[in-house]
Amino acid sequence: MAARKPLIAGNWKMYGRRAALAEAVALEAAAGEALGRVEALICPPAVYLAAAAQALSGHAVSVGAQDCSPNAEDAARTGEVSAAMLADAGAAYVIVGHSERRAFHQESNDLVRQKAEAAQAAGLAPIVCVGETEAERNAGEAASVVAAQVRASTPAQARGLVVAYEPVWAIGGNRTPTLDEIREIHAVVRAELAGRYGQDAESVRVLYGGSVNPKNAGDIFGIEGVDGALVGRASLKAADFAAIIKAHPAAL
Ligand code: PEP
Repeated sequence: MAARKPLIAGNWKMYGRRAALAEAVALEAAAGEALGRVEALICPPAVYLAAAAQALSGHAVSVGAQDCSPNAEDAARTGEVSAAMLADAGAAYVIVGHSERRAFHQESNDLVRQKAEAAQAAGLAPIVCVGETEAERNAGEAASVVAAQVRASTPAQARGLVVAYEPVWAIGGNRTPTLDEIREIHAVVRAELAGRYGQDAESVRVLYGGSVNPKNAGDIFGIEGVDGALVGRASLKAADFAAIIKAHPAAL
């Protein structure tokens, strides 16, 4: 089995305007040769996806979306964007089940699984996010919550699948789990994936996300079972995001 290529994905959330695409283009020069060894991905707001794909066409940085409709077929669903449309606009990946969507849009595991399957049907690689809340961690339930989310929100087939472990309490703040805590939950995710997909689980990349920055990235990438990162704030500036990419041991 070939080694999994590290993936470092930037989630721009609802930040930036068209002018911010210059940061995505600047990433290529800033990250340099590391981009051949580590896969870099930018997920801008949906309205800028086509422009981002155009600006990055022929570049080493891929483009992804932040969400998609669970409907694989065209349908009367006002305001929704299908995975097929995202693919048509130039996306290669789509994030599904981010904790902000689970919290602010009441997305269930089942809905997230449907979105991941719709993404695969359109040829996109789904990045399925899982992670415990602070209360769940304090109650000693982090491992069981994440295991249940992996079982219920991943698609039936492993094709193209990426899982991002993002403890909700570590997102958007300045706290990260200890390296041992990250290692422990990544092992839980891997075990669940092996149970679900057997040999096919080997191809699934498992990312860590939550307050990754240029200072802590190297230590996090050194943890066994971490295949890359999903990065929020620190992906908005090319210099910071490039520093994170270059911190991966495979980038050297
Ligand atoms: C995220 O929202 O996926 C995330 C990891 O955010 P941040 O890096 O800002 O904590």
